[in-house]
Amino acid sequence: MRNKYTMILSIFAFLSIVVLCCLLCIYFILTAFASSSDVVVRLGGGPYVLVVAHPDDECMFFAPTALSLRGRNLHVLCVSSGDFDGLGDVRKIEIMKSCQCLGISRDHVTVMDDKQFPDDPNMLWDTNLLAEKIDIYLEKIRPKVIITFDRHGVSGHLNHISLFNAIQMLVKRNTGKSLIALQLLTVNRLRKYIGVLDICVSYLWRQQSDMVEVISSWQQYWTAVQAMKQHRSQFAWFRQLYVVFSRYMAVNTLHRIS
Ligand SMILES: [Zn+2]
Repeated sequence: MRNKYTMILSIFAFLSIVVLCCLLCIYFILTAFASSSDVVVRLGGGPYVLVVAHPDDECMFFAPTALSLRGRNLHVLCVSSGDFDGLGDVRKIEIMKSCQCLGISRDHVTVMDDKQFPDDPNMLWDTNLLAEKIDIYLEKIRPKVIITFDRHGVSGHLNHISLFNAIQMLVKRNTGKSLIALQLLTVNRLRKYIGVLDICVSYLWRQQSDMVEVISSWQQYWTAVQAMKQHRSQFAWFRQLYVVFSRYMAVNTLHRIS
């Protein structure tokens, strides 16, 4: 009986290793064919603006996108300073260092830090007011493409969701103009934490033909980890686990906000 149990366990372990190896092979094949220039072609010409709510969103959720747009005139607008724990000033410095890792120069990074939009997971920001402030910023950059969270905000953080609401409002006001706004797809919790293996799932389960899959190479993944490390005040043990297990460190699925 014991021998039979051991044999079943061995077969299960063997099959698990085979499946894992197959998935990693698929990952290497997919990353070999998905170059960043493909992404740029699909997104269209820049300038690009990435709008995030807190310092660390830019690498925790958007690193594959930011890295694929390296050297392509990418700007980052961070609405709050991430002052929920009173560390706003520290985190403003950290986002500059993180963006530097991601290839975004300091003069392309703006932290709005408007007290009307505090870092608070339980607060939806005023959509009209936020849209107005973002619009003033966009007037200066005049981007072709804006990228932000979708209506679920990846982690469900209400500040993230507020960004989607405000940018959707801007898109509706911009009807007929050439502004393209893209949202980062929120996936279920299982997919969120299977790391790079979600690249295979993303390819198999692509829901809409207009979705853009942005896949990081191993080198880009490693750069994203280095960017995360710049957020020292936030790099607790659970964030260290996050960089290993989160699919957002290796893959972003973007689609248009209409
Ligand atoms: Zn955030």
